[in-house]
Amino acid sequence: MTAELIDGKAFALRLRARVGEGVARFRAAAGRVPGLAVVLVGEDAASAVYVRSKGKATVAAGMESFEHRLPADIDEASLIALVERLNADAAVDGILVQLPLPGHIDAARVLLAIDPDKDVDGFHPVNAGRLATGLPGFVPCTPLGCAMLLKDQLGDLSGKDAIVIGRSNIVGKPMAALLTAESCTVTIAHSRTHDLPGHVHRADIVVAAVGRANFVKGEWIKPGAVVIDVGINRTEDGLVGDVDFGGAAMVASAITPVPGGVGPMTIACLLRNTLVAAHRRDGIDYDA
Ligand code: NDP
Repeated sequence: MTAELIDGKAFALRLRARVGEGVARFRAAAGRVPGLAVVLVGEDAASAVYVRSKGKATVAAGMESFEHRLPADIDEASLIALVERLNADAAVDGILVQLPLPGHIDAARVLLAIDPDKDVDGFHPVNAGRLATGLPGFVPCTPLGCAMLLKDQLGDLSGKDAIVIGRSNIVGKPMAALLTAESCTVTIAHSRTHDLPGHVHRADIVVAAVGRANFVKGEWIKPGAVVIDVGINRTEDGLVGDVDFGGAAMVASAITPVPGGVGPMTIACLLRNTLVAAHRRDGIDYDA
């Protein structure tokens, strides 16, 4: 292996410590602590684990965590009514509805009900529009974390050729918007892309968000490229990313491992977004 390992776990710990210090300063200035409400519908095991770790991290950063666990058969109107109560609750700065939601609920309608200024996941169309047009808003946590790792690794991203593989609203599209804002030349690839290896081979920056184990091959990677692997795939060999790590690490200059790369950044960025939301709501400046 020749690539440098990008230690997302260590970066996330530093970010969480900075958020903790920011919370203490906010508390002194505002006389209250930021609050994050997390809504979990149903019994999905992976979602329950995510919600538990988000709650723990929120409390560890000195913020208040409000957990709402609802039965899987709750109707959409009742879920939206809860979101509206949280919108109106002065102690709540951030609202997160854990996805996926059960099939009988229209997730888009629920996300639309969240006050965009409390939408710390950045999934509301208003925040997607703000990101696309360069206005301050909330950026989805996973791509925000990837962009932080890339800037830490490379410094100025301006003029770099970047490819984002995947075009989901949660990862691929906001990632491409962030890289465009950093003045990269961005290719967005997806399941209909022709000659994906050729596109990947031109890129200085490769972000893989596909959801297929070891999908991106080492020989596709341009020598010296930086590779960010967003994928989390459970296989017989344990958790693996979307990139064939062994092959890519032979040619890339730097690469995120799975686990320990992008994953820990997501929660750290959620805490950061919640702290930013609290500052904005109270009209206090915050240099994130
Ligand atoms: P989605 O399933 O929503 O999107 C996957 C994307 O990959 C789609 O745009 C799809 O294209 C594209 N794709 C599928 N097959 C191919 C192919 N053969 N060639 C090129 N592109 C292809 O996934 P998410 O964006 O939600 O997540 C992606 C991965 O990131 C998953 O492994 C997920 O577990 C992980 N993840 C990790 C997080 C973290 O905290 N680290 C957070 C969120 C996600 P098309 O649009 O044409 O269907």
